[in-house]
Amino acid sequence: MDLRPEEISALIKERIKHYEDKIEADDIGRVITVGDGIALAQGLDAAMASELVEFEDGTMGMILNLEEESVGIVILGSDRNIKEGQSVKRTREIAEVKVGDGMLGRVVNALGEPIDGKGPIEGDRYRPIERVAPGVMTRKSVHQPLMTGLKVIDSMIPIGKGQRELIIGDRQTGKTAIAIDAIINQKGKDVLCIYVAIGQKASTVAQLVEKLRQNGAMDYTTVVVATASESAPMLYIAPYAGCAIGEEWMEEGKHVLIVYDDLSKHAVAYRAMSLLLRRPPGREAFPGDVFYLHSRLLERACKLNDDLGGGSITALPIIETQAGDISAYIPTNVISITDGQLFLQTELFNAGIRPAVDSGLSVSRVGSAAQTKAMKSVAKSLKLELAQYAELLSFTQFGSDLDPITQKTIDHGARLQAVLVQPQYAPLTMPQQVVSLYAVEHGFMDTIDIERISAFERALHRDMQAKHADLLDAIEEKGVLDDDMVKELEAGITESLNDFMLINGA
Ligand code: ATP
Ligand code: MG
Repeated sequence: MDLRPEEISALIKERIKHYEDKIEADDIGRVITVGDGIALAQGLDAAMASELVEFEDGTMGMILNLEEESVGIVILGSDRNIKEGQSVKRTREIAEVKVGDGMLGRVVNALGEPIDGKGPIEGDRYRPIERVAPGVMTRKSVHQPLMTGLKVIDSMIPIGKGQRELIIGDRQTGKTAIAIDAIINQKGKDVLCIYVAIGQKASTVAQLVEKLRQNGAMDYTTVVVATASESAPMLYIAPYAGCAIGEEWMEEGKHVLIVYDDLSKHAVAYRAMSLLLRRPPGREAFPGDVFYLHSRLLERACKLNDDLGGGSITALPIIETQAGDISAYIPTNVISITDGQLFLQTELFNAGIRPAVDSGLSVSRVGSAAQTKAMKSVAKSLKLELAQYAELLSFTQFGSDLDPITQKTIDHGARLQAVLVQPQYAPLTMPQQVVSLYAVEHGFMDTIDIERISAFERALHRDMQAKHADLLDAIEEKGVLDDDMVKELEAGITESLNDFMLINGA
């Protein structure tokens, strides 16, 4: 068949015309229904999952459901001005946040926009909020300690850089307090911190930011906030946004500590969204992919190998339990994803044993590889002694006479427990912790009344700093306790103890 040139060009023109029609048609859709922060739209046939769309009033949305006839969009912001029949435009982009050092000291929302009234954030680098976690070959095993400054954790449940350690417990058991102390303790340690507040009251978060500022921790910290009054989609994306900010630093070879406070509320927000998108509900009405919701987030915390700069993200996710039930759906999921958990007990908390960490139920599966030798040497039998103490204590309730050995074990255990009590916002250095634990483990505190233990401990730290600062430095530097150091340590403790007894006459 012969075709004349003008026919060919007419044909091509015709085709191109329709091709352009096609782009137009696929890029702009119509809102079918809208409500509860969710919109259904028709005509966005070529849209991708997680793609951002723009509504007529400029509000952004994120596509979560791709169906044959329509797409389900979660609205990032208010849905008040979005009406049925309005148009909605594809952007061909997925959600991104600003990253880089400009984020330090800032409080931002789930989209990375500043909400602290300090003006625009410096820098021009952005990162997608979602990405596939680094593979096994790019990782290195956890081997550097990440100190929380809390004796009970650093001694018995040590955390390493790149680890994921769950903080789990009922409401008001000091979960947030542990995470905040861990952030405060990173001062001067070249660890950048990110605190992601999910579903909390704005006033609570404001107080917390103020505490961080007072303790000089905002200099190296970013706070990402999605408060309880924001829409579910904002709560849903907040932790991923926080993680993306951390990944930028990790890839620069830096160390990052990120706190997700808390993932229970995150899961509830996701459930609300999923039900509104009419995804089928499963156990406890959560959608079937709720495990993947948290696994893809926590998998992104890791320690990179030296070729990739050796950076790390350490994650402290928080989960709130109901009446101590750690076998509920979301707690069991997150326990199985993390490398250990710090289990907080209401009874301990109410008895004044704070941080209320239950040493029997808490574990750290990888952190002991990162613990210093000095800490190991004073901490090795702590868990066992505390367990024995708890066991024997229940016997004393019968009021029976105790043999001297049992009495001694109980007395020692009580002092041990008293030493592990620590106030908020007062993290201790590794050498300070070693001094305290050495003193109690080797019986130096056996003659002191329980009520005076903390007073003695403070005096001891003061004396050691005044008279044996070299020793503290040496412990920090070498990370071990050799024979000469032990000799000086014992002399220091004895001296301090004698002074304390003289003054207090205990
Ligand atoms: P929520 O479930 O409301 O989030 P939470 O488990 O995060 O609570 P926190 O807010 O950290 O608990 O702590 C509850 C209260 O206990 C706070 O008033 C806090 O100041 C106090 N608290 C926490 N840790 C300690 C501590 N080590 N010493 C003394 N008080 C503490
Ligand atoms: Mg809290």
